[in-house]
Amino acid sequence: MTPAFHDRDGGLFAEDVDLTALAEAVGTPFFCYSSAAMTDRYKALAAVLDPLGVDILFAVKANSNQAVIATLAAAGAGADVVSEGEIRQALAAGVPARRIVFAGVAKTAAEMAFALEAGIGQFNVESFAELTMLDAVAREMGRVAPVGLRVNPDVDAGTHEKITTGRKENKFGVDIAAAPAFFAAAADMAGVDARSMSLHIGSQITQLEPFERAYRGLREMTLALRAAGVTIDHLDLGGGLGIVYADETAPDLNQYARIVRDTVGDLGCRLSVEPGRFLVGNAGILVCQVILVKPGETRDFIFTDGAMNDLIRPTLYEAYHAIRPLRPRGPAQARPADIVGPVCESGDYLGKGRYLPTLEVGDLVAVMGAGAYGAVMASTYNSRPLAPEVLVAGARHHVIRPRLSYAELLARDSVPLWLTDQTVDHGA
Ligand SMILES: *Cc1c(COP(=O)(O)O)cnc(C)c1O
Repeated sequence: MTPAFHDRDGGLFAEDVDLTALAEAVGTPFFCYSSAAMTDRYKALAAVLDPLGVDILFAVKANSNQAVIATLAAAGAGADVVSEGEIRQALAAGVPARRIVFAGVAKTAAEMAFALEAGIGQFNVESFAELTMLDAVAREMGRVAPVGLRVNPDVDAGTHEKITTGRKENKFGVDIAAAPAFFAAAADMAGVDARSMSLHIGSQITQLEPFERAYRGLREMTLALRAAGVTIDHLDLGGGLGIVYADETAPDLNQYARIVRDTVGDLGCRLSVEPGRFLVGNAGILVCQVILVKPGETRDFIFTDGAMNDLIRPTLYEAYHAIRPLRPRGPAQARPADIVGPVCESGDYLGKGRYLPTLEVGDLVAVMGAGAYGAVMASTYNSRPLAPEVLVAGARHHVIRPRLSYAELLARDSVPLWLTDQTVDHGA
């Protein structure tokens, strides 16, 4: 199989689609995803986890386009969601309700009711307050909510501050030591059926040791709960598997599976994982066009029509994304360049201090690794229309979300009559 993004005829292709031609067809900036890349990642993970009976739930927040969810669902994935909107996206994409797990640290009663009505597979509950509320909502509806307790194992995932979630000081989950009290409380509630525990210690984790420590904690608590007479028949091991953006070492999947087997594999529990970034991160790119080149004192500024509103990861997480011309004009230059957008913020950059081939106005560049937490975090800041998303499969492509038009952008606002109609009394 050809790698999803590769060079052919002097330029970058997505599968069998020439990205230069695609840019002409859809305009820039745009996100492009490879179906094969997503499916390959899914299959690679399924190959090591299927033998252990682990269910793979795609963490929809990484990329919630229905076509992306449907691609992974067709490969076999369920969905891990964090809002009513994501439940709706997953259902619309064809994910069966029972294969949807509702995570999220503060669900509203309305979201709980919607999820119960839809018949989702499980609620991962993160506090006593939420458990009480879910019990009340379910009883009101004459239902019983399947519940997992999200525990916080107090493990440092060794990742960026803003994407670590499993330490005591993070807002997520319930201290694992409080699990017995939680299950004791749940046992007295008619609206909930709690037999599961979940955890999720962070994102972009490339060292496997934090997973091992967290899963070991889960194992010990499962045994302790069972000794106290609590039934635990499902463990949700969370997401967080990292990918290669620059020079990271990709986590070894066989090693990961071995850890799962050695820690929780013999408990007789149903198991699930919730990868997001791992499945889609390197399956997507952001294609931008150079609109201005501004030589600076020590570096050049390459302005592109893509900006922080399209891809906020560089400025939000100090994240590195490789950037390359679609069609390089020659070797890398000795002088560094910052690849920046037109947004009025110093934090508006896609890459800093890069040694790239000469770039001229009109050239196209690809920002790699933009398939996860890219389009989903985009905004219209500076009144910039949201970039379109394009899905490629072989030689086919389809615009899976069109660019927001200026007409749509303007139509989202409504100006009250008192500002436009001069005959209206403005009051005093
Ligand atoms: C964000 C999230 C995930 C996915 O994280 P990735 O790092 O993208 O794999 C999984 N589970 C929960 C509960 C999450 O909040």
